[in-house]
This record gives sequence, structure tokens and C-alpha cells, in this order.
Amino acid sequence: MGKIRNIGLLPQILIAFVAAVLAGIIFGPAIDIVQPLGDLFLRLIQFIIVPLVMASLVVGVASTGSMRTLGRIGGKTIAYYLATTLIAVTIGLLAGLLFSPGAGVDISNAGEIPEATKTGSVVDILLNIIPTNPLSSLASGNILQVIFFSLFLGVGITMVGEKAQPVYRFFDGLAEIMYKITWAIMKLIPLGIFGLLAPIIGEYGLSVLMPLIKLISVVAIACIVHALITYSIVVKSLGKISPWQFFKGIAPASLVAFSTQSSSGTLPVTIKCSEDNLEVSKKISSFVLPLGATINMDGTSLYLSVATLFTAQAFGIDMTVGQMLLVVLIATLGSIGTAGVPGAGLVMLTMVLTAVNLPLEGIALIAGVDRFMDMFRTSVNITGDAAGALIVHKSESEFKDDNIEVS
Ligand code: ASP
Repeated sequence: MGKIRNIGLLPQILIAFVAAVLAGIIFGPAIDIVQPLGDLFLRLIQFIIVPLVMASLVVGVASTGSMRTLGRIGGKTIAYYLATTLIAVTIGLLAGLLFSPGAGVDISNAGEIPEATKTGSVVDILLNIIPTNPLSSLASGNILQVIFFSLFLGVGITMVGEKAQPVYRFFDGLAEIMYKITWAIMKLIPLGIFGLLAPIIGEYGLSVLMPLIKLISVVAIACIVHALITYSIVVKSLGKISPWQFFKGIAPASLVAFSTQSSSGTLPVTIKCSEDNLEVSKKISSFVLPLGATINMDGTSLYLSVATLFTAQAFGIDMTVGQMLLVVLIATLGSIGTAGVPGAGLVMLTMVLTAVNLPLEGIALIAGVDRFMDMFRTSVNITGDAAGALIVHKSESEFKDDNIEVS
């Protein structure tokens, strides 16, 4: 595998990032004319997601060779995801308590609660992971359902053995094709970041952000603290690489996540960066990353806890310790059920606020500036996924006998 191929793009990506921010500030809403460039890139990465996730996951699962290996990798992945999500929620709560972002906020600013933020219960959300019709999940791009179906297909291929080999070879070939296409699309990342980010910066004036600048800053700072401290410790102690190497390797994906606000949309780039720059094997990345892009959302869970405290503070409500513990539970479960698409975290906030009996008007207060917090939380979401892939890969190197390709 060509080593650190993508890092060659990092300078261009960083230049595009800075240029987008500057162009947004200088040209304001007029910079909207570059939006088609962003949409072009977004569509290009979106069109490969479903076949890429399906093919690579089926092959990844089928080639683990045994249920024992699969169970071991799955167990480690889920344990890592849960642990880091809990840490993120705790950091969010501490930041919310320490900086009180909601204190003194003018609640008369709250407009209508957006219709799109109505959600089902936690049970409904979890049950919805199981597709009733896998073909319609593929057609509608419901990634969590696609993962569920692909996992079972992979397991089925392992159980059937010889007769299922043509199916295995089909998906193996499809996965290789999708990797090649991904590689070609990656070259457009700088252009895509410019086209996506500049219009957002141009659209939002400081006057829109100012009333809630404290909330945005608390979420941003807490996200950065979680990434720098938690992931540095994780990748250094369990991943055996320097945090600098890790952050540099995953930076292209983190910046794409920042610009697209979509973990699912960023998935092809996350996979590519993890394999090329962090040297995670295909078998591990194809299993751990699609799963992470949909169920592991540290940034979202952190945001949910800050936003809940913000709402309580804005409405002058003192939260009890019991309510805060409930926030930890619901924010963790909620982040698992959150889709990796822009604004999904705001939808989940309805669930958390309802669970702890806080006014849903909090959503209306936040909705206008949610996009900015989405940038930070999505970046953290995918960075956490990559850290997970790295440590699972490293820990699997002890089990070379089990058919796992470890570079
Ligand atoms: N946009 C986030 C993601 O794709 C989800 C969220 O809104 O929190 O990871």
C-alpha cells in the first residue's frame, strides 16, 4: 500500500481551508457562486458510500475467517466506542457547568421549534437499525441498516463456505473498484472544501453568531480538548504512534468532516486516510470505520450534553444530579442512533431535552447556529472513529494467526 500518499495533499487542503474562511469573510453571501464546486465534491463522495460500505464490510467480515475473530474485533470496537463516548459526554457536562454558556441568554430570541426535529424514542431508534427490506435500505442510503445487512451477509458467507465463494469474490472485486474510485475522488478534496466552506462562512454574519457565541465557543473548545487529550492518550498508549503523526494522518478527513458536517459523507476519506496514513489494514478499517461513522459520535454526545445544560441555564432551571446522569445515558444512546448527516445531532437534542423535562424551545434557540457546532462535532466524530480503527488494528497484530492482515 502506497505509504502516506494523501499527506501530499495536506498543504493544498489547508490552503483551501484558509482561503475558504477568508473568501467567506471578504465576499459575504456573494461567495455562494462557488457552491456548485462543493456540491460536485459532495455528490462524488456520496455516490460511492453505499457500495463502498457494503462491499468492504462484507469482505472484511467474511475474510476474518471465524466468528471468534469477528466477535473479538467487534467487542473491542464497541468497548472503545462506548468508553470514548462516555468520556466525551463527561467533558461536555463539565464544560457546560464550568462556563455556563446559557447564563443570561435572551430566551425571547427563540423562534419556532423546527418541524424536522421531532424524533422517536430510543427504543424506536435502536430497532430501526434492523432493516425490514435491505434493498430499500440500500436504495435510500440508510447506512446503519446497510451495515446490519452487510454484517449478516459476511457472516453468512463464512458459514456457507465453498458455495458462497462466488458471492465473496463479487464483493471483493466491487470493493477494489470502489477503493480505486475513492482514490481518484480524493484529489478533489481541496476544491470541495473550498466550495463547501466558503458559502457557509459567507452566509453567516457575526450578528447571527454573536448572541450564542459563548455556546459555540464552549462546544468548540470542549471538542478540541477531547480530541487533543483523549485521542492523544489513546493513540499513544494503545495505538503506539505519536499523536502528531495521528492528527497529521487523519487531518484531510477531519477537514472534510468539518466542511461537509457529515460523518457518512466523509467515510470514504476516513477509510483512505486510515489505511494510507495510519496504516490500518483494510480488514479492520472496513469493519470499524463504517460502524464508527454511524454509531460512534463523541462530538455529538459532547454537544448534546453542553446544549442540554445550555437550555437549562437559559430557562433558569437547576438540573439535579439525577437529571445529569440521565443526560449521560440518553446522550450516549442518542449519539449511537444519530445518523451521520448534517444537523442530525440537533434532532437528537429533542430526545434528550424531553427525557430530562426541559423546554423544547431550547432547540429553537440553538437551531440558527447549529451548523457551526456541527462542524466541530463532526470533525471529532470521525477523528474518534479513526483512533478506534488504529487501536483495534494494533491490538489485532497479536493475533496474526487468525487470518487478519496486519501491515
Ligand atoms: N453531523 C454529525 C455527523 O455527521 C451528526 C450530528 O449532527 O451531530 O457526524
